[in-house]
Amino acid sequence: MRPARYPRVVPALADSFDLGRLRLTAGQGRRLDLDVAIAPFELGAERYVVEPARVPVRLDVDRTTGNGYALRVRFEVTLVGPCMRCLEPATPATSVDAREVDQPGAGEELRSPYIADEILDLSAWAREALALALPAKVLCRPDCRGLCPVCGANLNADPEHAHEAEPDPRWAKLRELRLE
Ligand SMILES: [Zn+2]
Ligand SMILES: [Zn+2]
Repeated sequence: MRPARYPRVVPALADSFDLGRLRLTAGQGRRLDLDVAIAPFELGAERYVVEPARVPVRLDVDRTTGNGYALRVRFEVTLVGPCMRCLEPATPATSVDAREVDQPGAGEELRSPYIADEILDLSAWAREALALALPAKVLCRPDCRGLCPVCGANLNADPEHAHEAEPDPRWAKLRELRLE
């Protein structure tokens, strides 16, 4: 005999989300807690993974007059990849708070590129919003000292690291002249 099937409690997986199924009328709103996957980023030549794999997001949906939507998404992620200065692992936390409006019939600038036929591409929107919120440089720590430009040593591990000053090349030339 097969085991009976019970409804399982699983997080709502929502890479895209059907706004129409909320059946909101103008002025109504709904707050939803969803999970969304956000694809890794390529920055410079390096790859940065978004953690957790399924990002818990809070989505506020408001129905506007004229069959439009006003949306707000909020979430926090950790980016995991090499520090852009010293190449050691970096895990900067980034929080996102983004808004989006889709108002049919009100001109192109009020149409959202993430909504088509009331289907919200939450994954694409969250990724774009995160891209805008990312720090300009991904660092292991704000004051990362980076690598020695001469030998590549990690200057965080050895702050006193230094090289003998290169001799002035003109002195070398002078020495050659004297030997002739
Ligand atoms: Zn670093
Ligand atoms: Zn060095």
